[in-house]
Amino acid sequence: MEIGTALRFKGLFEEQKLKLLYSNAVLDEEFNLRTDDRLDEVDQSSSELETSMRMRLRNREALYLKKIDLALRRITEGEFGSCEGCGDDIEMRRLEARPMTTFCVACKETEERLELGHVDGRMPKSLGRRLQLG
Ligand SMILES: [Zn+2]
Repeated sequence: MEIGTALRFKGLFEEQKLKLLYSNAVLDEEFNLRTDDRLDEVDQSSSELETSMRMRLRNREALYLKKIDLALRRITEGEFGSCEGCGDDIEMRRLEARPMTTFCVACKETEERLELGHVDGRMPKSLGRRLQLG
């Protein structure tokens, strides 16, 4: 991958990361304000529901953040854009559509076939846990 292209993706990831961190900070602030407002007229069940929804959102964001950091590290190490499965370059069109992917189309399709087989129960259990591909 050309350095200019890598830098373009680097900028994209850093921007996404900042947005994510910023929206988290805003969410926290709103949440704290509303918690203070409620005082003793709190509807306990809806408050618990909100907390668990926020937790799920948080987990998803944390995972996303981890993927961004991983992509940034791959850029630093000069590995960004190479497939983790076969080592070939990942198609640029695929990277544009899914910048955080670490596998080329062919490897991803192989994984999806394996996954389908797994769901059908045709794959032996000994294959272990499935790979988490981008
Ligand atoms: Zn591949």
